[in-house]
Amino acid sequence: MTSPVDENRRPAALPLLRGQKALVTGANSGIGKATAIGLGRAGADVVVNYVAGKEAADEVVQEIESFGVRAYAYEADVSNEDQVVGMFADMVERFGTIDILVANAGLQRDAASVDMTLAQWQKVLDVNLTGQFLCAREAAKEFVRRGVVPEVSRAAGKIICMSSVHQIIPWAGHANYAASKGGVLMLMQTLAQELAPQGIRVNAVAPGAIRTPINHDAWATPEAEAELLKLVPYRRVGDPEDIADAVTTLASDLMDYVVGATIYVDGGMTLFPGFATGG
Ligand code: NAD
Repeated sequence: MTSPVDENRRPAALPLLRGQKALVTGANSGIGKATAIGLGRAGADVVVNYVAGKEAADEVVQEIESFGVRAYAYEADVSNEDQVVGMFADMVERFGTIDILVANAGLQRDAASVDMTLAQWQKVLDVNLTGQFLCAREAAKEFVRRGVVPEVSRAAGKIICMSSVHQIIPWAGHANYAASKGGVLMLMQTLAQELAPQGIRVNAVAPGAIRTPINHDAWATPEAEAELLKLVPYRRVGDPEDIADAVTTLASDLMDYVVGATIYVDGGMTLFPGFATGG
């Protein structure tokens, strides 16, 4: 039996995102996969975007459907304008609208700056920065058209940009990636400023070191992991679910007054850990 005090303090549990429609880019791997599943578990219908790997995307869809919500996989390259426009049009046709965009797709093409080819530079900027712009633009158009639906959410729509601690931490050997994430910070803040008057919340989540395929070499051996953990005051490598939980909360009305913010989910990586003993 629950006590009356507990009942007062804890109203009946409701899925945080019930009735909301979400699209997650790059959702068949790593952080995007965990986030798509997390949003589905919280009650949202989810579009699982992928660019390659249909089978993996279909598995994510199945897992989301097991929560009793709707999901489908959609192939599109986020750096291709026509494909992005087509993906959002398709979502509006099938789900009626969109409430949450998680612009997550990203990649690395690492090289010392003096060796970096224009193709390596351009690819990372195209996917990590232009891809986020294109997806945010299409989502925002639908948010503005539809406006606020109070039964669904206090906001007209939510955009969450997947950034990185490297939006503020320089990263030798990764000039293209760091520049793309620095760009994401200013894109996010500018969109937030521009769209807030229309009830749209734009924010970012900035992961630190998360165990996914993108940084496999950084944690794959005990030696590599020990080296990596020197940069993490909390002394553990993050899991994709750490990011999924932050995104789910940020997308919900629990965070309705959070606009233009970056939530660092990094075990303290942005605390300049070298200064714990030096300086
Ligand atoms: P991942 O490689 O597992 O996932 C990246 C996803 O993006 C994959 O599904 C990939 O297919 C997809 N993708 C790549 N190019 C695409 C395109 N053109 N169109 C659509 N999808 C495309 O890596 P991850 O770690 O899950 O990365 C997800 C995001 O998190 C990225 O934006 C990355 O920069 C960011 N991030 C990751 C970490 C980390 O430690 N893993 C840290 C900071 C930021």
